[in-house]
Amino acid sequence: MHVMILGGGVVGVTSAYYLAQAGHQVTVLERQPGVGLETSFANAGQVSPGYSAPWAGPGIPVKALKWLMMRHRPLVLWPRLEPRLYGWLARMLANCTEDAYRRNKGRMVRLAEYSRDVLRDLRAETGIAYDHRERGTLQLFRTQKQLDHVGDDTRVLDAYGVPYEVLDPAGCIAAEPALARVSGVVVGGLRLPGDETGDAHLFTKALAGLCTELGVTFRYGARIAGLQEAGGRIEAVMLEDGTRLTADSYVAALGSFTPALLRPLGIALPVYPVKGYSLTLPITDADAAPVSTVMDETYKVGITRLGDRIRVGGTAELAGFSDVLRAPRRETLERSVTDLFPQGGDLAHASFWTGLRPMTPDGTPIVGGTRIANLFTNTGHGTLGWTMACGSGRLLADLVSGRTPEIASEDLAVSRYAA
Ligand SMILES: Cc1cc2nc3c(=O)[nH]c(=O)nc-3n(C[C@H](O)[C@H](O)[C@H](O)COP(=O)(O)OP(=O)(O)OC[C@H]3O[C@@H](n4cnc5c(N)ncnc54)[C@H](O)[C@@H]3O)c2cc1C
Repeated sequence: MHVMILGGGVVGVTSAYYLAQAGHQVTVLERQPGVGLETSFANAGQVSPGYSAPWAGPGIPVKALKWLMMRHRPLVLWPRLEPRLYGWLARMLANCTEDAYRRNKGRMVRLAEYSRDVLRDLRAETGIAYDHRERGTLQLFRTQKQLDHVGDDTRVLDAYGVPYEVLDPAGCIAAEPALARVSGVVVGGLRLPGDETGDAHLFTKALAGLCTELGVTFRYGARIAGLQEAGGRIEAVMLEDGTRLTADSYVAALGSFTPALLRPLGIALPVYPVKGYSLTLPITDADAAPVSTVMDETYKVGITRLGDRIRVGGTAELAGFSDVLRAPRRETLERSVTDLFPQGGDLAHASFWTGLRPMTPDGTPIVGGTRIANLFTNTGHGTLGWTMACGSGRLLADLVSGRTPEIASEDLAVSRYAA
């Protein structure tokens, strides 16, 4: 079967790899000159099944109001006349109940844990390298109040059997020795030893190389304009330059841009672009840099070591498809890394980046078939697209191939929104 993947981010490329492995002819269409150059380019680098949870949860509406008021705010809402945004926010609020949280978290943990296992298998089989580390992640508390609430998280971790350690300041320093250099900042932490880290862009490029060896064709500079449907099937992809391309099956993996492609076909995907920012600094003193990821709970910023660089990522900005780099967001990232790892990296030589997380209101990605028999989606991975990419690609390949997937998947398809 010839399968056409629309979009060459980390999710499109993992889909391509597992489809090619399953014996299909695969073509990837990507508008950029290479893979992983949009949202998958400079994310915070966490492969973190332990933190797989929807944003929508009990108590979040009140917390969100507080976050919006902070000087270095982790959440920014631009007042916009955009009905789509308010519809999406309303659906997110509807998911802030105990029941919805439990259901959504269960789906996300299932996919994220599977994904980590698939990634480990891939590493073992191919030796793929992407500045990865298997050193866990540390959520760092700067206030007693944050530490006092750790039970909210550990109860959930217990329920899903995720291993963790609650640490005092000495324990945090044992996990991240550079924290010994800052005084009066660390009150405690929650460490998830099963989490990993790595550079999603390096991974996507390396995996695209393995795809090419398996015979996958990559067409760069291919700007997709629309899909042609006839008789309940997709017949062709139309590019902006008028080129018409055909295949047997199609996988929509355009991240935040997927809804616009499928809307004319009557398929409504509740995916909104949630903007985030990152800084990448060269390490100047390896002993003063993080060992793995430190999640600064106060600013919701992730600080990760990636080879000889430190990646600092965070902020959720609801601002449509804007790619403007805003100075106050940079200040928040700088504040976090300067407080925790002041001598680790060189901020003067940092690169500043922004990307659009493809977020669903229930936090769960949309992986599976659609009402059109030969059209599949693999999108909506939000804050956890790197964490879930390998599992989503493998699952998608099984579904397209008509094989029974290794995890339950009915509740991951777009049809769940019809219920
Ligand atoms: C600041 C930040 C930090 C993050 N940190 C983490 C983290 O630590 N861990 C984690 O798991 N996740 C993290 N994420 C989320 C993760 O990066 C995303 O979920 C993931 O990259 C989404 O991958 P994707 O392939 O779906 O989308 P993308 O990478 O955006 O890929 C979609 C591709 O489709 C292409 N495309 C779009 N429209 C068209 C068109 N019309 N024609 C042709 N091509 C098109 C684009 O060029 C793009 O390459 C973070 C995100 C941000 C912004």
